Amino acid sequence: MEFITKNFEETQQLAGRLVEQITKMPHGGALVLALKGDLGAGKTTFIQGLGRALGVEEKILSPTFVIMKNFNILTNKQFNNFYHFDCYRIEGPGDLEVLNFKEITSEPRNLVVIEWAERIEKALPPDAVWLEFEHGGEDIRKLKM
Ligand code: ADP
Ligand code: MG
Repeated sequence: MEFITKNFEETQQLAGRLVEQITKMPHGGALVLALKGDLGAGKTTFIQGLGRALGVEEKILSPTFVIMKNFNILTNKQFNNFYHFDCYRIEGPGDLEVLNFKEITSEPRNLVVIEWAERIEKALPPDAVWLEFEHGGEDIRKLKM
């Protein structure tokens, strides 16, 4: 499926519209969303919309310098925790061990969203859902799910 958005609010709203469909995807452990796309393609913007739609109350920022941040979900029946990873600065899957990545992705009540997921592809569960973001010039962005 492909979607086009024309400004950042539309990308956040798109995340809100897709949340029901996304959370229904089958997942053995955590539901893992693997996000791919250049800098500025809209990955963090989409994640902000997703967090809002799920009832994450804190503001989700780009965790580029943090690698991982965990948010509580209080209002969703299916998920308790929202994990946001940004793998831009990591070398590969080995760097994830200290972050408890295996444990985090084995728990079905976790929703795990990962920016630059292609850098840790080997560590992802086989049922991860890939979301690809592309620049379409100026404020146009394309999402492939
Ligand atoms: P990434 O996490 O992929 O690096 P961000 O979501 O942090 O990207 O940044 C996207 C940037 O592009 C933001 O500055 C945002 O305001 C801008 N932007 C412009 N148009 C759009 C759009 N249609 N969707 C998402 N972001 C957009
Ligand atoms: Mg980002």
